[in-house]
Amino acid sequence: ALLFEVSRTTAINAYRHLEKGGYVSIKNGSGTYVSDRYALESKTNNEIPWPQLLKPYIHPSMATLMSELMVSNVLEDKISLDAGMPDPNYYPIDIFSKLHRDYLAELEPRDFGHIPVHGYEPLRHTITQMLGSEGIKCYSDEVIILSGSQQGLYLTARVLIEPGDYVIIQAPTYLGAIQVFQSLGARVLSLPQSEDFPFEILEDYLTRYRPKLLYCIPTFRNPTGTVMNAGERKKLIQLAARYRLAILEDDPYSNLYYEDRPPASLKALDDYGGVIYLSTFSKILMPGLRLGYMVAHPSFIHRIILEKQYVDLHSNNISQWLLDLFIKEGYLANHLIKMRGIYRNRRNVMTEALNQSLKSKLSFQIPQGGFYIWCKINENISLKKLLQEALKTGVSFVPGEAFYAAPGEDKEFRLCFSQHNEEIILEGISRLEKSIGKFKKS
Ligand code: PMP
Repeated sequence: ALLFEVSRTTAINAYRHLEKGGYVSIKNGSGTYVSDRYALESKTNNEIPWPQLLKPYIHPSMATLMSELMVSNVLEDKISLDAGMPDPNYYPIDIFSKLHRDYLAELEPRDFGHIPVHGYEPLRHTITQMLGSEGIKCYSDEVIILSGSQQGLYLTARVLIEPGDYVIIQAPTYLGAIQVFQSLGARVLSLPQSEDFPFEILEDYLTRYRPKLLYCIPTFRNPTGTVMNAGERKKLIQLAARYRLAILEDDPYSNLYYEDRPPASLKALDDYGGVIYLSTFSKILMPGLRLGYMVAHPSFIHRIILEKQYVDLHSNNISQWLLDLFIKEGYLANHLIKMRGIYRNRRNVMTEALNQSLKSKLSFQIPQGGFYIWCKINENISLKKLLQEALKTGVSFVPGEAFYAAPGEDKEFRLCFSQHNEEIILEGISRLEKSIGKFKKS
């Protein structure tokens, strides 16, 4: 007989998981009981047994990490340096209401009905023009409007990945992408972090595993804030073309630069038709619009259109119509200029505060754009434990493990500087310093 040893923590976590799902209730000092609604007696009534009907869930490795870490000890005035969001105080709500008021009468009743799956035609056109000015030459039939770029990640994985296929990522990377790939059964190969792009390892993966897809965020990567340089971009395209490798370029942050403009996107260099380009209005404008877009080869877009049709027929018309006006009337360009100034300042304040109070304990690079500072702690402290301490002190961050396909070194974490003003950022960093200090004494 095979004997498996399960640690006490694993068992406790499993029970907690069942408790969260409402399957059991844990009574302190007494034991764990199957919830009434799932106990045998209740099966005798007519209630449908959902857990037996649902298909098996492929659990992405880090899916519950964040929610588990965030459950306890959350103070009311907690300062979130975790979520990667724009500052809601700068959402241009007044302009959106004005556009709505001024132009509503111009809409026809049919504009409130269904539109083609690929999106509201004028917005599709506006996006091709906008991209043209960023060096991406494309026609309307290469563009599809999406309900956020997360939908683009999911649809791309849906049409390319079969269980067991290999996908390459640059570790660490956006958790939401890793989860999508893993949930569809992909085997994720990680390119390690290094100063220069690890071409040798990539080529080794390409010859050994024949992966279909490389996922990357070349500009102001979430979570590291790093930028792939122009030479590396060229070399990557050449290599991908040679190996018939599709590249999924996720680009939410390239317009949020605080120094020089970043190098041209991979899509702008794409001469083999293999780059699937994704972007979104969630970071530069408002995530609640739920609007993003994909630019890719017409054959690929055609298949994405078929797949999107199954999911939601098309993205919300009203959001698309308002966004199109917002861009055409020049508001987006002005908003970007304003937000770059605001975020640049916040980045400066956060990096200066970290340098002043935590210089000997942390190492980090100053990001040239985006929302994030990626820190490595030089002390012997577990980041998961530090987060528990920080939550008690009233500040949060994301432990680095969340951005890897498999648990790794527990020494990194991500801070986000976009959401709060300078005063709150300073208080947040001071709380972080306090929690690190407390930890050392204990
Ligand atoms: N990609 C990256 C790299 C992100 O950081 C995010 C947001 N956290 C997304 C995709 C998803 O954004 P949305 O669906 O809101 O467009």
